[in-house]
Amino acid sequence: MNHQQCAELATICRSIRWDVDMAPYSTFRTGGVAEAMVEVGDIAELSALLRWLQKEQTQWHVIGGGSNILVTGRYHEGVFIRLRGSIQDILLEPPDAYAAEEGVLVRVHAGCSLAAFLGWCVRNDLGGLEFMAGIPGSVGGAIRMNAGALGHAISELLESVHCMTSQGETLAVAKDAALFAYRSTRLPGEHAGKMLITAGVFRLQRADGKHVAARCREIVEQRKQKQPQGLGSAGSFFKNPEGDFAGRLIERAGLKGLSHGKAMVSPKHANFIVNTGGAVPEDIIALMEEVRRKVLQHSGVLLEPEVRIY
Ligand SMILES: Cc1cc2nc3c(=O)[nH]c(=O)nc-3n(C[C@H](O)[C@H](O)[C@H](O)COP(=O)(O)OP(=O)(O)OC[C@H]3O[C@@H](n4cnc5c(N)ncnc54)[C@H](O)[C@@H]3O)c2cc1C
Repeated sequence: MNHQQCAELATICRSIRWDVDMAPYSTFRTGGVAEAMVEVGDIAELSALLRWLQKEQTQWHVIGGGSNILVTGRYHEGVFIRLRGSIQDILLEPPDAYAAEEGVLVRVHAGCSLAAFLGWCVRNDLGGLEFMAGIPGSVGGAIRMNAGALGHAISELLESVHCMTSQGETLAVAKDAALFAYRSTRLPGEHAGKMLITAGVFRLQRADGKHVAARCREIVEQRKQKQPQGLGSAGSFFKNPEGDFAGRLIERAGLKGLSHGKAMVSPKHANFIVNTGGAVPEDIIALMEEVRRKVLQHSGVLLEPEVRIY
């Protein structure tokens, strides 16, 4: 961005920082430098920002908890956007908008963390989301990735997805129109390419908060048994190929414990690439490529990363 663009951007966004180390914004705990990071506090500010970015043809990315991204070591021109303020709110939909016996509709803004949403469900005696317990990140990131566990995906609970187009216009997409797939959500038609999710409307069921909390604790405990703890990662690195598990294929190829620099295939869970301390993004990329090559040689399957690489 030139001087004038920097000055204009600073008039649109209240919170802006320049030349930002992305390591703290990725659960891999490593990353390159972003030209600008803006934290947007409400929908009006977001709309003005996207319109300006479109007019200036400036590159942008939205991130949530950074738990499914790898930011490569180069300098990233453009703007990384984080959703804060009222774009983290949880609101009950007016009860007259739906039949009460079919549950409760809740509008959860994209910047809200999944952990905060689950805590809210417990306090408000609402169930359905427990299978997401222990998945880090934001509601927006979870919808974008169609995150899930235990045979369920977040899209199963969604009634509609609310987005902003790159022209800064709001758009509601009914659940039947959104294209939910394994670890991916796409919007139909012209909006497929660049979408910023601002909220999801979820249908939850009345439940005893104590039972919901107990089930969440149980699930988190199971995850601790199976997944590496205390090391940077983005969870499962590769998508499971049709009818199989990436972790099984990696283990069968004898790759548990394989390392490149400070990045390692976790000995505890073969589909986790972990930062053992001080890994640079290129260590992770090199290890990813080696795993893909060796699994292809060993079993004929080309693994696709689930992690979004910038
Ligand atoms: C320890 C660990 C365990 C995990 N376990 C699971 C699991 O069991 N199941 C599972 O599915 N995932 C799992 N993950 C991966 C990750 O937590 C999920 O994919 C999560 O939903 C990503 O959310 P996020 O906010 O961190 O997204 P980010 O990592 O910030 O972003 C991921 C992608 O979503 C996009 N995005 C983020 N916010 C928005 C938005 N508002 N609008 C449009 N696009 C957006 C980003 O541009 C990026 O392309 C795990 C990760 C870790 C570190």
